[in-house]
Amino acid sequence: MRLALKVDVDTLRGTREGVPALVDLFRRHGVGATFLFSLGPDHTGRAIRRAFRPGFLGKVRRTGVVEHYGVKTLLYGTLLPGPDIGRRAGDVMRMTRDAGFDTGIHCWDHVRWQDGVAAADAAWTAREMRMACERYTDVFKEPPRTHGAAGWQMNLHALRLTQRLGFDVCSDGRGTHPHLPFWNAEPVRCPQFPTTLPTLDELIGLDGVDASNVADRLLGLTEAPAPAGHVFTLHAELEGMRLLPVIEQLVAGWKAQGWSPVSLRSLHASVEPFALPRCAVGIGSVPGRSGTLFVQQGPFPGEALPRAA
Ligand SMILES: [Zn+2]
Repeated sequence: MRLALKVDVDTLRGTREGVPALVDLFRRHGVGATFLFSLGPDHTGRAIRRAFRPGFLGKVRRTGVVEHYGVKTLLYGTLLPGPDIGRRAGDVMRMTRDAGFDTGIHCWDHVRWQDGVAAADAAWTAREMRMACERYTDVFKEPPRTHGAAGWQMNLHALRLTQRLGFDVCSDGRGTHPHLPFWNAEPVRCPQFPTTLPTLDELIGLDGVDASNVADRLLGLTEAPAPAGHVFTLHAELEGMRLLPVIEQLVAGWKAQGWSPVSLRSLHASVEPFALPRCAVGIGSVPGRSGTLFVQQGPFPGEALPRAA
């Protein structure tokens, strides 16, 4: 049984500090993972605008956002100019690939994508995705093939572009199993491997869960076999830094339960991509996370239940 580890990398600090720590941990345990990079400017400070949205202040209290990002990162794009992550940390990105890990695109500008893509038109969406692809190709000297959208935010244009830009493994949303997506009955021929498990920051702070018992809570969710596998998303800024010991517990726990922690590409290799079940996708919500996300909504009409991987 395969459980894909998907590492979202949002900031310059996460790229420089969180990524090498996770690469080291995964190598020590002999497991695979996919690292998805933010390739353009780090404008994390601008996310402070989200403080005016419902649900954000509760999350700040639960997860300690200042401790999580660091003060300097919170000023990028506001009082300090946003540093260019691809230019400043391309060496870390190549080191990750050269250490044998799957790499792909998270976004060009995380804050811009997360706050803008829901209402964006085709031209805006194509520009953001093309800039990320060009910079990725600049850094790695090969085109990107794996995509995992920032903040699980997508629109129909972005979904169409996953196919047109040549991606073959996408993990852009939340759901229950790998599928071929249909948005308003329009098919997109690029398989989606959605995040199936809750993230640590969605669990911590609710129902008596804290950093000391969150690994047990999550391992409780993976006790039952899941023939189509699982996808777990972690963040370089949180699980690669303050919560690194929790990831150590999780990787050991998953191996003891019989899971092989792998990259998204390895999960993709275990299925026949174009024989995957067809599923309706769209905008919805998940427990513990504020706002709306790209979600798998259920079988496409007439579609059979998921097949075993
Ligand atoms: Zn992200």
